[in-house]
Amino acid sequence: MAPVLKGPSGADGQSILITEINEVRERIAAARTSPEIVVSLVPTMGSFHEGHLSLIRAARAESDLLVVSIFVNPAQFGPEEDLEAYPRDLQRDLDLASQEGVDMVFSPSETEMYPEGFETYVEVGAIADGLCGQGRPGHFKGVATVVAKLFNIVRPDLAYFGQKDAQQAAVIRRMAADLDFATEIRVCPIIRESDGLAMSSRNFYLTEDVRAQAPALYNALVLARESVGNGETDAAKIRRAMRRAIGQNYLLEFEYARIVDPDDLKPVATIDRKVLAAVAARAGKARLIDNMLIDPLRR
Ligand code: AMP
Repeated sequence: MAPVLKGPSGADGQSILITEINEVRERIAAARTSPEIVVSLVPTMGSFHEGHLSLIRAARAESDLLVVSIFVNPAQFGPEEDLEAYPRDLQRDLDLASQEGVDMVFSPSETEMYPEGFETYVEVGAIADGLCGQGRPGHFKGVATVVAKLFNIVRPDLAYFGQKDAQQAAVIRRMAADLDFATEIRVCPIIRESDGLAMSSRNFYLTEDVRAQAPALYNALVLARESVGNGETDAAKIRRAMRRAIGQNYLLEFEYARIVDPDDLKPVATIDRKVLAAVAARAGKARLIDNMLIDPLRR
């Protein structure tokens, strides 16, 4: 068994807050006192909710040294997107991280991550083109680049991502395999509110009336699962039904409803194996996404 380092090692049992790349590297190198030490990373943009905490808990259970990064990554926001408005609350996040036994919180500045002269990006392939890639050009390039940087900074054995952002998880898996990162990617289930709405930091933007209609995305996915459970195999029919279910809500602006392969995200026409149903809609200032893995063989 590896020596156990578990738990925050900062003063007063707080997670240590680190803002510089060199310091993270030094501290991790110092903690890797044996080859069995498992270092884990949970990359986030902060403003924690139960979705983030579920990743942190899964990582805590499997690792000796747990690093959580908090960085609102400008490279993944489009020019018209909500970079400035994105909710931020570092002190609250630090308190929650400490309660969950996170060892280090790495929260660099934009210039620490993207100093003057920065110009190298990860070029993502076709996996980033469909679904959210269509409406958010350049988004996954920004995500892959920051995750590659974080992997190189932390060199984690394990990294945790949420199924909530299914395309992001697929892009990162692809990148880790293609670029030979030694990090194993773990994907954790979607955490939802009691009415089915997938938790998201951006739910903070929802006004009461929009919030009331927001569970329509989850309900559309449940409808799709039921339909497959009843023997429907025609993906186009199910897509139309999901679209209708979302479109009935006048405050939601339907964006897409797709049935794709869970690994390469290519469209599936006939549902004869496990598929990913994915939906997106604009809801006031927020954009909602949700998805569900559906297996026709497990009714
Ligand atoms: P974010 O801070 O939104 O970039 O999210 C950080 C990580 O938490 C990503 O891997 C997300 O997929 C994951 N995550 C966000 N919301 C949820 C959720 N509701 N359930 C599970 N994981 C989530």
